[in-house]
Order: sequence, then C-alpha cells, then structure tokens
Amino acid sequence: MNSEKLLELQKEMPDGVQLIAVSKFKPASDVQLAYDLGQRHFGENHAMEMKQKHEELPQDIKWHFIGHLQTNKIKYIIPFVHLIHSIDSFKLLQEVDRQALKHNREVDCLLQFHIATEETKFGFSLDECEKMLQSPEFASLKNVRICGVMGMASLTDDRQQIRQEFHRLHEIFDLLKSKYFAASDFFKEISMGMTDDYRIAIQEGSTLVRIGSAIFGARDYSNK
Ligand SMILES: *Cc1c(COP(=O)(O)O)cnc(C)c1O
Repeated sequence: MNSEKLLELQKEMPDGVQLIAVSKFKPASDVQLAYDLGQRHFGENHAMEMKQKHEELPQDIKWHFIGHLQTNKIKYIIPFVHLIHSIDSFKLLQEVDRQALKHNREVDCLLQFHIATEETKFGFSLDECEKMLQSPEFASLKNVRICGVMGMASLTDDRQQIRQEFHRLHEIFDLLKSKYFAASDFFKEISMGMTDDYRIAIQEGSTLVRIGSAIFGARDYSNK
C-alpha cells in the first residue's frame, strides 16, 4: 500500500468527487492501512472476497461492488453493500431487489453502460436501458434505488477517445436524469475513472473514481 500516493489522491479529489480505493486481490491488512489514513470507501469485484473483508475489517467501511455480479452471489453482499456499481441487466436488478427485500433494506445501485469499444466489457446500451426503465416490471421494484450510472473507458492510449467515452456517459446520465429521474435527488452519481484515466474522468464530471493499482500496487492474478 502506497501511503503517500493515497494521501495525495485524497487531497487531489475536488469537492463532490469520492475516491474509492479498489482493494480487489489485495489482503485485508492493506485495506486496514488505508483505513488508518482515513480512507472509508473501498471497491471490490468478487462477492466472497468482499464478504470476507467486510467481516474482518472495521464496520464503518463503505463497500462498493464494482465487478460483474452473478445472481447466485448477490446473497453474500446484500446485507452490507453500500453501492452496487455494476447493474447490467434487468434480471440482475430484479434479483438484487428480491434479496434486498429479504433483508428488509433498500440497496443503492448504478446502471452500468457499455461505453468502450471492447466487446468483452459489460453494460447496457441506452436503448436496452430505456426499455427497462419504461417497463411496468421496473416500476414494481421497491427495494432498489437507482443512484446514477457507471462506465469503463476503452483500454487505449488515445486520450481523446477516452474523453469522448466519458463525455458520452455524462450525456447518458443527463438524458436519464431529465427523462426518468428528475424527481429523485439521489440520482446524482457518475462512476467513472481508474488509475490511468481518473483525471480525464473528473474533468468530464465523474463523482466516484475507482482507483486500485496507484494505491495498492500492481495486482497479481497468477494464483486466482
Ligand atoms: C480493477 C478495477 C478498477 C481499478 O483499476 P486500476 O486501474 O487498478 O485503478 C476500477 N474499476 C473497475 C470496474 C475495476 O474492475
């Protein structure tokens, strides 16, 4: 864990931008070190790993789920998750709603959009998303609260392309806000920006940046 870098990043965040320290694949002891420097928002992309860290670590940590979520894993995180960034289908949202009801809570979610050129990335198209938002099935959900949008830019050195993709996500946010969420104060988040592109994301209106390797170092995927 790079303490100096974390403190630098915390200082660099403008008002209205929350730094999420992405601790996936890193031990709980690294999370504790960041916690001791005042960091409270952490991001994970595996349900079991997040559950284990939640059990081991201070209870006032706000856990953000940022990875592709399988419906059979929702149950591990639903009692405590702070925000699910990665809702990419109605089926997933419906299942989160069902599990949230069981735990008698309302769970905050973001809609993930596919803004990158890579096919492998997850997320709604605007069309798909609008179909969902207009459906009676969506209107019947009671235990999820849609708080905004999330997206990942393409993996490219072309800064202009990255900027355009973030700009597009901001446009999608504005459109959804005015068409569907004008009356909800909590629809206000744009989750975009990682280690290599967070400055562009902030310039394009990000409210939640998800930074991993700059804080915790390169990840070792070899034994996962
Ligand atoms: C891993 C991950 C991050 C953090 O990536 P870094 O490049 O290490 O900052 C951010 N968002 C998502 C969705 C991720 O999976």
